[in-house]
Amino acid sequence: MTFALIGNQNSGKTTLFNQLTGSNQHVGNFPGVTVEQKSGQIISQKNITLVDLPGIYSLSPYSAEEILTRDFLLKQNPDAIINIIDATNIERNLYLTLQLTELQIPMILTLNMMDEVQANNGSINIPALREALGIPVVPISAIKKQGIDELVETAAETAKNRRKPKRVDFCSGAVHRTIHAVSHLIEDHAQLINTPVRFAATKLVEGDEPMSSSLNLSENEKDTIEHAVKEMETEVETEREAALADMRYSFIEDACRKCVIKNGESREYARSVKIDAILTHKILAIPTFLILMLTVFYLTFEVIGSRLSDLLLMCLDGLSLAVDNALKAYEINHVAHSLVIEGIFPGVGAVLSFVPIIIVLFFFLSILEDSGYMARVAFVMDKPMRKIGLSGRSFVPLIMGFGCSVPAVMATRTLSSERDKKMTILLTPFMSCSAKLPIYALFTAAFFKEYQAVVMICLYVLGIILGVASGYALKTLVFKGDPVPFVMELPNYRFPSVKTVLLLMRDKAKDFIQRAFTVIFWATVVIWFLQSFDIRLNVVSNSADSILAHVGQIFSFLFVPLGFSDWRVPTALITGFMAKEAVISTLAVLTESGVAELGDTLQSLFSPASAVGFLVFTLLYTPCVAAVATVRRELGTKFGTAFVIVYQTGIAWVAAFVAYRLFDLFI
Ligand code: GDP
Ligand code: MG
Repeated sequence: MTFALIGNQNSGKTTLFNQLTGSNQHVGNFPGVTVEQKSGQIISQKNITLVDLPGIYSLSPYSAEEILTRDFLLKQNPDAIINIIDATNIERNLYLTLQLTELQIPMILTLNMMDEVQANNGSINIPALREALGIPVVPISAIKKQGIDELVETAAETAKNRRKPKRVDFCSGAVHRTIHAVSHLIEDHAQLINTPVRFAATKLVEGDEPMSSSLNLSENEKDTIEHAVKEMETEVETEREAALADMRYSFIEDACRKCVIKNGESREYARSVKIDAILTHKILAIPTFLILMLTVFYLTFEVIGSRLSDLLLMCLDGLSLAVDNALKAYEINHVAHSLVIEGIFPGVGAVLSFVPIIIVLFFFLSILEDSGYMARVAFVMDKPMRKIGLSGRSFVPLIMGFGCSVPAVMATRTLSSERDKKMTILLTPFMSCSAKLPIYALFTAAFFKEYQAVVMICLYVLGIILGVASGYALKTLVFKGDPVPFVMELPNYRFPSVKTVLLLMRDKAKDFIQRAFTVIFWATVVIWFLQSFDIRLNVVSNSADSILAHVGQIFSFLFVPLGFSDWRVPTALITGFMAKEAVISTLAVLTESGVAELGDTLQSLFSPASAVGFLVFTLLYTPCVAAVATVRRELGTKFGTAFVIVYQTGIAWVAAFVAYRLFDLFI
């Protein structure tokens, strides 16, 4: 059996999904976290598959991920719908519930966040609500695992007995008469295409064009329906969509008046309003955001993360020495020795030593996200974003770009307009992804020890500034017109859940370590091979005679103006296209320096000014293969994808040139 989890954004669907299936999907106090459907088996009932879907507010979808949810309901025929709603916000959430009943799929209403309702001395009369809606109602708290077993039992029973919602009729007066008239008229058409009659009828009354054509109505029938709707509009004195919304809301109001007791404003809400007075303040908001970010970077790079990294570096160095001695004692062939000690250890080790920094950074970022702060940032950023032709909504995918461009580009599915979506995808690569962090950390430690956090922030800001400038250019040249209006609900601030934060940290670490032992490992081996042998496959004594040196030299003239033309640097940049971390593993292998000495070695390859040029170049040049493939998929055009690569690399070159020259003059 298949159960679909349906509900508004941020109602706790993913939290419940994780509890029931034991999986670890990303939860966020942030609308639009889930953009794809995810399925898993319920632990206690293995025969039931649960599908987590993106949040929706109604069955009239606007954006790609809302369409995904609706199509799942209509085409996949789930055995039951688990409609999960935020009980602290019951009126608005029930709007979707009323529409879902029209689909006539067995359905259970799940009131989530009951812990908050109770903490505010509120209560909900469950039997009365069940009576009013005609479906089973189960109160739960997904986060505290309360009521979960009962929910599974009720859902299984409802599905097994194919118990459809008892009630679809929530209307009265003129709207009621119109819907019923239309229902009778289209009954046979709807049956032919296997669509619930009531659902089809309300869609037609709403004026849904796709529904009207898929029903194959005759001109005559269409006229009759339009006529009936006109009558209704005159009688209720509102336009058709509003009339249906009114009908639903007046039913909900009535039901809630009877079933829900609220004790004034909730504590969480009152608290959120107080915090927001500062964090979304007209003038203070943006400085506060910058100060917060600066603190996060400072703690990550100078206080906690870098110390842990140094510690790990020492361990790796010790291990490398031990293995080195062991291999020598064994008198292993010197090429194999070189592969392990000069190839794999420095290459993989260089990347691994940054794991602590990544973990610490994501510890802070996930706290900011889970508390609900990031949603505020999107809200505050709406106004400045409009200047470059985007809405605050686009801020969410853009900020995800600081983690990794792949999920960031996928998150653009939450944007309802094609124009906003394309533009956001093109700007995502300007947000420096976390795979570039090791490069920054290494170089800033080697060249700007005292100002590490500041230089790092400057790089991020430079990426943002160039992104803004490009956005501005795109807006005036390509994407004319206006972004869609910004409607995003601000969730209440919550104390970040320890589990969510830990999970995110674990995921990041796992991902990073996995890459170190797969992509980076193989890149290291290939690089080691190419730099240890010449074209005739003889072992070279000086790597400047190697195959790799010949290839690297072809490109190195391009980098002469940027101040880093040693063939090893362009080579490292090329491997960075596979994965950005490969830049440093390649440098480690090519300079034949152990993980601990890499920083010192770099000082002989770069001057401070050319190091700046190099940092700016890596900040901006083409996204890695995985990101490019995702852009290709989401944009759907080869041209756009090629544009991203050429545009980014072009900008990177120019910016690096300017940065190098300026620093060379002044420092
Ligand atoms: P989704 O967008 O519907 O998938 O919602 P999520 O599962 O991502 O959860 C949204 C937010 O609500 C997260 O911050 C959760 O920690 C929080 N949350 C989920 N369930 C509960 C609950 O039962 N009680 C409380 N207080 N918070 C919850
Ligand atoms: Mg979700």
